[in-house]
Amino acid sequence: MKVLKFGGTSVANAKNINLVKNIIANEQSDNIIVVVSALGGITDLLLKSAALACTQDISYKATFKEIENRHLSTIKELIPIHSQSKMLSKVKSELNTLETLLEGAYLIGEITPKLSDKIVSYGELLSSYIISEHFIAEGIDAAYIDSRELIKTNSTHGKTTVNFQLTNSNCVEALKSHENTVLVMGGFIASSVSGDSTTLGRGGSDYSAAIVANALDAEILQVWTDVSGMYTANPKIVKQAMSIPHISYEEAMELSHFGAKVLFPPTIQPVLSKGIPIVIKNTFKPEDQGTLISRNTNGLGKTVRGISHVEEVALLSLEGSGMVGIPGISKRFFEVLSNADISVVLITQASSEHSICVGISNQDTQKAVSIINEAFDFEISRGKIKPVIAEKDLAIVALVGDNMKSHQGLSGKMFSTLGKNNVNIRAIAQGASERNISAVILKSDVKKALNSLHEAFFEENVKQLNLFVMGVGNVGAKFLNQIQQQKKYLKEKLKLNIRVIGMSNSRTMVFDEDGISLKNWEALLAAGEKADKGLFYDKVMKLNYRNSIFVDNTASEEVSNTYHSYLQNSISVVTCNKIACSSPFSNYQELKDLARKYNAPFLFETNVGAGLPIIDTLKHLVASGDKILKIQAVLSGSLNFVFNNFNDGTTFHDIVKKAQQEGYTEPDPKIDLSGVDVMRKILILARESGNVLDIEDIENQSFLPKVSLETNNYEDFFRTLKEHEASFQEMYQQTVAEDSKLKYVAQFENGKASVGLQRIPKGHDFYNLEGSDNIVLFYTERYPNQPMIIKGAGAGADVTASGIFADIIRVGNF
Ligand code: ADP
Ligand code: ASP
Ligand code: MG
Repeated sequence: MKVLKFGGTSVANAKNINLVKNIIANEQSDNIIVVVSALGGITDLLLKSAALACTQDISYKATFKEIENRHLSTIKELIPIHSQSKMLSKVKSELNTLETLLEGAYLIGEITPKLSDKIVSYGELLSSYIISEHFIAEGIDAAYIDSRELIKTNSTHGKTTVNFQLTNSNCVEALKSHENTVLVMGGFIASSVSGDSTTLGRGGSDYSAAIVANALDAEILQVWTDVSGMYTANPKIVKQAMSIPHISYEEAMELSHFGAKVLFPPTIQPVLSKGIPIVIKNTFKPEDQGTLISRNTNGLGKTVRGISHVEEVALLSLEGSGMVGIPGISKRFFEVLSNADISVVLITQASSEHSICVGISNQDTQKAVSIINEAFDFEISRGKIKPVIAEKDLAIVALVGDNMKSHQGLSGKMFSTLGKNNVNIRAIAQGASERNISAVILKSDVKKALNSLHEAFFEENVKQLNLFVMGVGNVGAKFLNQIQQQKKYLKEKLKLNIRVIGMSNSRTMVFDEDGISLKNWEALLAAGEKADKGLFYDKVMKLNYRNSIFVDNTASEEVSNTYHSYLQNSISVVTCNKIACSSPFSNYQELKDLARKYNAPFLFETNVGAGLPIIDTLKHLVASGDKILKIQAVLSGSLNFVFNNFNDGTTFHDIVKKAQQEGYTEPDPKIDLSGVDVMRKILILARESGNVLDIEDIENQSFLPKVSLETNNYEDFFRTLKEHEASFQEMYQQTVAEDSKLKYVAQFENGKASVGLQRIPKGHDFYNLEGSDNIVLFYTERYPNQPMIIKGAGAGADVTASGIFADIIRVGNF
């Protein structure tokens, strides 16, 4: 004897019911009980029509029509025309009765729990009848049984309890009186001893099947649904969730209690004592293994078996000095809730007698607050206890596993994972069985919390990084190409799965929750919505993804002003934009503090020397206790280009023009030639070495004539260069005479920084610097005489993009 239960989606329409029929037809057993739910969505429609009717809203009729059509069209599609009439007349007659009941509710403007049960029972009554007839028409030796004659409950409509003694004997009798191979019955519905229809609670068809399996000593209970088993987390929210092959009754119970809807929580109880195994299978993929729920899962390895969550939770806190030492406060508190039929989902472990804090369902909040305040009215009026505080719109996430008790550090890992992702924990509880650890969080954080916990406990190997990229010009475009190229390698070798969720240029922005295709991002971006930095930020917040990184590839001050808000929300910032790090020291410090406080790296390696590992090396030197004594560097690719190409055969003006045209300078070449760009870079290096410094503290011995510095447009600037050609030539001649070369050098020593053009003699480390190369010499306590030297290409889109990429990987390994 086997019991097979098929849920709402499995029997939602004729096509699906045919799949169910195939599953039954392929079953070898000659004794099968099939328990079915209402056609998917019908229970909701029944409740909706009842709710409309009792508020005297005539649109209940339209909902009723929808219910009627669903059933009639299913029959027409399923059953051969010549056998339809008998069924159609029976179903129509049932629907007429249902319509009359709804009309009654509409006329009176009220609905009792008893009438509600009666109305909602039509879903399973009709589905089970239609399916049994379909089986018969398809040649299966099947018969219909009315579950109300088998499963008996008390008369507390809406909160029934099953009378197992009566139910068990009814089941045994029913089986005896039917010789058929397959018996079809509706789940969810039952009746009271006095014969009224009752129901077992939403999702209760699983329970019906378990009750019957227990009564008939079934060898197995199969629960057929729309997913391939019980998953490590709700597969609709966590895409990487996996079906759990084998799980214990207790774990399954705990997971379903904390929201794994795939199994109605009371389902385990009836089969547990007899050890009847439950298998959860997918009607749409019957070949998938599914999940086996049984005893004896010891040694199955995993400490955390699954993660589940309950939404719509509220926290109630009662506190006050008057609670200390007075016995019976908790007793009264829980009694009040229990008398009002409010169930407590979670009790936090309070370490003092000073407060009680429990989780209840959101919808019970108002009622709970008023009855508790009423019950403690005396203490509240005397100021001994404060009025109860309720916090709504919360959720519980729970880690579940039998073996969790024997492992340390799981809660630490759980809370640090949530903390890193800026998920605020409102309360925590650990079941006495130590089979679960639960945390109460904001409902809006559920998706992020589940995904990050799932990643931490089940995908230990692969970490997903979600990028939000602003600026896709030269550098940005190269960066996106590099990600596209390296995607596979990163996933396989570094276990990092990088996705770009949002991107923007100055014109448009685009988002894709599953990751923007990097093969044709240009077209997707062009077709995106109008760019807006504020809306971009709002969207990042709304998506609320774990491991989010904001990448700034612009040179915009406005963009750099948004870093604070990202960091404050634990979103890492990676940038090649130098403005923030060279802004007033207080701002730079604040960003670093925020990064530390919110556990979100703020990385800007490309601010100095593009892709060269200059800042990272400096950080490691400082962190390992070395002290920076002196920094000497050539940090401007643009100025190198200019001075490497300037000679007596050209003009200074023409070389600068060429540098600008070939993209070696900032769009405004004055930023480079005036030394401002180099000042920013040495400032950042000085700060990263641990010094408090501002841009005004840097000495800039400009080689440009004063008039050039004072210009405020390109033409004027270039004109002054032309006018002063003689002085540039003189500078060149002098250098040649000394057998040296001109280099724009930045220096930091004894707390003082300076930048300026220098004549570098032959033999000096800087003398042979080619093209746009950069070089940095670090003189430290550990490298006092021979400096540590970092040298290489210090400008260019490709190397800058690879520097940003390296920062992203640093965040990934953080
Ligand atoms: P049925 O109508 O077949 O009883 P349900 O909708 O009641 O189906 O339950 C199946 C659904 O449960 C799945 O579609 C999935 O969205 C949800 N679910 C929530 N948590 C889990 C989980 N941990 N494993 C599998 N499914 C889950
Ligand atoms: N049809 C009922 C519901 O939707 C029972 C079930 O499907 O398990 O809640
Ligand atoms: Mg269900």
